[in-house]
Amino acid sequence: MPPARPHDGGMSETPSWLDGLVGNVRCAACGRLYARSDLRPVGQRDQHWFVRCTCSACGSQGIAVVMVQAAVVPAPAAPTRPAITVDDVLSAHELLRDYSGNVDGLFGAGSSRTR
Ligand SMILES: [Zn+2]
Repeated sequence: MPPARPHDGGMSETPSWLDGLVGNVRCAACGRLYARSDLRPVGQRDQHWFVRCTCSACGSQGIAVVMVQAAVVPAPAAPTRPAITVDDVLSAHELLRDYSGNVDGLFGAGSSRTR
């Protein structure tokens, strides 16, 4: 089985969104709805596609600009806290090794208690 080829939106194949234009775009000259074969993508710039529309009834041509947005969920933002590094682990290890107090003294919320 051949591996799935990702959709690259290349010019060699017909974009899937083109079907959405059929039945919705009319010839500016005679008002006839364009058929699927009347629409031909001729260029792309970022999210904008340029589609040449050729009316098969009156022969007039036009260029439609179609904005295509990929339905992609953006990746979540990177966490603002830096990841724990090895140095952090070593620091905690050294802190605990030399620590002789109790847990309250270690994790106390900055209290100024003396013992
Ligand atoms: Zn026409």
